[in-house]
Amino acid sequence: MTAEIISGTAISRQIREELKQEVAQLKEKHNIIPGLVTVLVGEDPASQSYVGSKVRTCEELGIYSERHDLPADIDEQTLMSLIDRLNKDPKINGILVQLPLPKHISESNVLIAIDPRKDVDGFHPINVGKLMIGEPDYLPCTPHGIQELLIRSGIETEGADIVVVGRSNIVGKPVANILMQKRAGANATVTVCHTRTRDLVSHTRRADILIVAAGKPKDVTADMVKEGVVVIDVGVHRIGKTKEGKNILCGDVDFESVKEKAKAITPVPGGVGPMTIVMLMTNTVKAAKLAAGL
Ligand code: NAP
Repeated sequence: MTAEIISGTAISRQIREELKQEVAQLKEKHNIIPGLVTVLVGEDPASQSYVGSKVRTCEELGIYSERHDLPADIDEQTLMSLIDRLNKDPKINGILVQLPLPKHISESNVLIAIDPRKDVDGFHPINVGKLMIGEPDYLPCTPHGIQELLIRSGIETEGADIVVVGRSNIVGKPVANILMQKRAGANATVTVCHTRTRDLVSHTRRADILIVAAGKPKDVTADMVKEGVVVIDVGVHRIGKTKEGKNILCGDVDFESVKEKAKAITPVPGGVGPMTIVMLMTNTVKAAKLAAGL
């Protein structure tokens, strides 16, 4: 069996088109322009590139965007004052503080300071709690993107055995939470594995859907999965450069061997990655509608 490739590039393009139309209608019918602000502390090249793509995507979709680039040595209080101002700014519906932050700033203090109604990353404890009880306003972007990939590829999650490798707060835990909810596009039986899991392979081998967010290049190999599995690879690793100087990427899954056994699989790049930004835009549009009482 050679797997069907689940293209996050194609699915995210489709969602962008839908969002573009929704943003145009919000403007035309209600005079609403959703607004997203990105806050970047320091000069980490990967973070700069993520923020740049978010700003470009806003432009493409007709979303107002503001960008605050702050020096790495800024103190926590100054950052808090900026967040306070953005919380009160009616042009801004979504506030995204690019993580990671420098060590002298507490990420949890900063995330709690963001108004939960503008928390389009879905990391505020109120939004985490709302997801837990099945009443979410904003789902975190990468896990939501994974659910959307499954739904739009026609992959049934109802009753499926889903195994998640990884328990981080940004991927593993929320994706498990989303997929166990009692609702369409979820209703799965979810197992979460981590470094203290006894006999990882016994879990990965029985998964109908295997979601890998371990942060280890090509860690999941063909002998660890069953024939006909659906594999979602969240990992992103730079493993070299092409002659032209472009990054060569791979995921947490050994794509070449696993695709011979899987029914469907996401590639890296072009799988989960492109979904994260569009789900951020989806949350920003939702925040604008909620703020307007729509
Ligand atoms: P993380 O915070 O490093 O968490 C990794 C998790 O995997 C931990 O819970 C760890 O267990 C578990 N783990 C590591 N090695 C394992 C092993 N051999 N067996 C079982 N469990 C193992 O990583 P993350 O932030 O969730 O990100 C995971 C990957 O996804 C990274 O490559 C990251 O770059 C990528 N990512 C991609 C996107 C995207 O948009 N495409 C977004 C976010 C992250 P312990 O808890 O026991 O340590």
